[in-house]
Amino acid sequence: MNDEFKTLNKFDAGNDREGFFYSLPTLEEQGVGKISRLPVSIRVVLESVLRNCDGKKVQRKDVEALAKWNAKKPANEEIPFVVARIVLQDFTGVPLVVDLAAMRSAVKSLGGDPKIIEPLVPVDLVVDHSVQVDFFGSPRALQLNLDMEFKRNRERYQFLKWGQQAFKTFQLIPPGIGIVHQVNLEYLAKGVQHAQSTINNQPSTVFYPDTLVGTDSHTTMINGLGVVGWGVGGIEAEAGMLGQPVYFLTPEVVGVHMTGKLREGVTATDLVLHITEMLRAQKVVGKFVEFYGEGAASLPVPDRATIGNMSPEYGATMGFFPIDGESVAYLRATGRSDEQCAAFENYFRAQKMFGMPKKGEIDYSVDLELNLGDVQPAVAGPKRPQDRINLPALGETFRSLLKKPVKEGGYGKADVDLGSKHLVQLNGSAPTDGEMPSTDDSEDAAPEERNKLEMIANRPTPDPAKELPKGDPFRHGQSEIGHGTVLIAAITSCTNTSNPSVMLAAGLLAKKAVERGLKVDPAVKTSLAPGSRVVTDYLDKTGLQKYLDQLGFNLVGYGCTTCIGNSGPLHPNIEKAINNFDLIAASVLSGNRNFEARVHQNIKANFLMSPPLVVAFALAGRVDVDLSKEPIGKDREGKETFLRDLWPSLNEIQETMRSALTPEVFRKLYRDFADQNPKWNEIPSSTGEVYQWDEKSDYIHEPPFFQNFSMKVGKIDNIVNARPLGIFGDSVTTDHISPAGAIKATSPAGEYLKSRGIQPQDFNSYGSRRGNDLVMTRGTFANVRIKNLMVPGTEGGVTKHFPDGKQMSIFDAAMLYQKENVPLIILAGHEYGTGSSRDWAAKGTRLLGVKAVVAASFERIHRSNLVGMGVLPLQFLDGVTAESLGLDGSQTFSIGGLSDHIQPGQQLMLAIENSKGEKRYVPVKLRIDTPIEIDYYKHGGILPFVLRQLLVK
Ligand code: SF4
Repeated sequence: MNDEFKTLNKFDAGNDREGFFYSLPTLEEQGVGKISRLPVSIRVVLESVLRNCDGKKVQRKDVEALAKWNAKKPANEEIPFVVARIVLQDFTGVPLVVDLAAMRSAVKSLGGDPKIIEPLVPVDLVVDHSVQVDFFGSPRALQLNLDMEFKRNRERYQFLKWGQQAFKTFQLIPPGIGIVHQVNLEYLAKGVQHAQSTINNQPSTVFYPDTLVGTDSHTTMINGLGVVGWGVGGIEAEAGMLGQPVYFLTPEVVGVHMTGKLREGVTATDLVLHITEMLRAQKVVGKFVEFYGEGAASLPVPDRATIGNMSPEYGATMGFFPIDGESVAYLRATGRSDEQCAAFENYFRAQKMFGMPKKGEIDYSVDLELNLGDVQPAVAGPKRPQDRINLPALGETFRSLLKKPVKEGGYGKADVDLGSKHLVQLNGSAPTDGEMPSTDDSEDAAPEERNKLEMIANRPTPDPAKELPKGDPFRHGQSEIGHGTVLIAAITSCTNTSNPSVMLAAGLLAKKAVERGLKVDPAVKTSLAPGSRVVTDYLDKTGLQKYLDQLGFNLVGYGCTTCIGNSGPLHPNIEKAINNFDLIAASVLSGNRNFEARVHQNIKANFLMSPPLVVAFALAGRVDVDLSKEPIGKDREGKETFLRDLWPSLNEIQETMRSALTPEVFRKLYRDFADQNPKWNEIPSSTGEVYQWDEKSDYIHEPPFFQNFSMKVGKIDNIVNARPLGIFGDSVTTDHISPAGAIKATSPAGEYLKSRGIQPQDFNSYGSRRGNDLVMTRGTFANVRIKNLMVPGTEGGVTKHFPDGKQMSIFDAAMLYQKENVPLIILAGHEYGTGSSRDWAAKGTRLLGVKAVVAASFERIHRSNLVGMGVLPLQFLDGVTAESLGLDGSQTFSIGGLSDHIQPGQQLMLAIENSKGEKRYVPVKLRIDTPIEIDYYKHGGILPFVLRQLLVK
């Protein structure tokens, strides 16, 4: 064992077990630093650096530098963080396994042993991102959506099953079990990990904190349990899996001192939206945030996890809660063994890190105060999660946004009648194969309503191997829709579905609404997609699911659904009305993101809110309303009903919760989940160490990253006479760069799939085709909402090819430039690459032939992914933008000063030449931030870097 600092000590791990640990108190006694005053999150990272200090990958100076962490001026040093495990979801996980398979193929073709490519730390992949809400409002929606999911994703699932048998340290959680972060919280996370070792010639057990990175930005949800972890790009995760430390710059840590208690009627969702607004304003991007104080101690772990979940929305690397009695109680309540719970508590006690810190005990870079009593019921939107709106102000805010000009963030509808409504017939090919007999559950509903709710249930069970049911899976009737009409109401997203208090509140609100005879308009697409089957267990046990069902919130799947944009289609007549009348329709969802086109391509106003509010707005049917004063609807006697009449009290919620949750349920539902999934087991899979690539597959394709791979490392050179492929404004998200949602039939990816004989209805989403570089490269910059300023007035992936100025798709232009041997660059505004971590945003950029991205500022993960793919990130100096430079895309660009001797953060010169041959020079900052990134860039990215390292071993 490494023990460079002689800190390996014994401790009582509980249950008569003795364990070893790398003691931070001992390190402090040696005078290395004032460790007991460091933020707890920093101490957890320090333990990893100390334990992995081998003088090579991690050096003594790394330990010393972090132990001396200076709160007010953290060192400008990179930290080599070796994590205990990796979590993946399937959208990002599939391409990662594809890359591993491609590396094995590359090693084999070089005559090496393919098995040298193997994850070195445990990897868990949860298949959760592929389920879509095709069917809803029916008792059979879950099964029908699952059937569709398996039909659409069969090739990917076959491939994942190959991966499951090919790699030893890879656990796969099949579809239909839950959402990665909720499964992580409820099952995968251990709090403390252990490994067998030999110490003083004796077999021994070494304990260490559970730490991880995940290929999903909301990995931070686990911070609520005191586990250090965050989202990284697939490219970094891949490196982590292959034994590379995850490098990050020594962060500042913002301490948020919480006091007080949440008031009656205020939910954990309201709290997280408050925190998101507050911390966005404090500019915490790239920083750790640590919550502490008696207010933090009063929050149960699910509330803490909700706050950790939205770290990407407030911009922080993590939103961490230290470990205390609540953390242990959560592990116990979710069925973890006594042994595990004891080891967790005793380990952190031995490290003197147990218990919620009080004010003044820890040195933070920035000190903030938050009184939980100040938090108000709220929603956030319509376009950004940080735009919180107090509930009473929603109607007024929406109306004023409707009129506001587009460039001020509004919808530019000043000249139209905002109140006008359009009648929409929600008929269609209604099933004719007999009515379902009425069930007890729907007794309270009026006959026509019952009919609507049961339309889909009337169909015979589809055989997924054959055709799925024809016709439209929508609720029928007629409806009047206009600006502000709610068309999607989704209880979705790990942010909230892992929190029993808000899920039960939704059920209790539904119960009161049904008891009064309130109804949801058939135009509203209602869905309930929890992040684990535990939710169904407690909603069933408390009898609340039946009320949710009666309002249309039937279970649609266990996965991400609407949160990731898999909200499924709306009734065609609704889509027609939206397009014909250019309606600003609304969605209400308990998710964490609401960028344009994220939730649904045709819904422009998207509001984040707690699950009970989702039910309330589904009932109200509109967002231009003040639910604190205006009625939510009429009861069966025609009497006005208000939100306050339906809102459950804290006592009601807590009472219900006590009766509903037991550790045994968690143990039962997470035991043998593979056996509980016959559809998964039926999928045939290939075997062997090396994957047999199938040219017929349009889901899995061998990526070209290792084509012409050799052991020789190229030279870094200037970029000369590059053309811009796109010029973008501020806040271009990774979803703009590499959309996850639907593939348009007329887009390059759509045309390509059609050329392969695939019909548009079988396109599936970009997210599901991330294992195929041929689709993903065509989909890069293909989001229907991306605005390329080179072609003013257009939306979607179009550009101009120069010097001829011809307008064409970004993909076609890139291919033309590749033929002409012209290097490409992208110019962008602030926060380029904001949003979910998405490795294809960098991979696609690279495969289009882009050599550099010059932006006013970058989002953390996307910047590092660009470097990881060998694309140069450059930053304009303060105040300079493409707009201020008057660039229209007709210019050429050269980047000077590039050589093998470049240094992180150094200044380079961008030469801009116009069509008349006039040149000017603009200084830019090299946003390669660390020495190891220089190595990655030299090698052409992380993958070739790691592969060369493995091959010389
Ligand atoms: S539910 Fe939403 S936030 Fe959670 S993992 Fe899925 S897409 Fe990400």
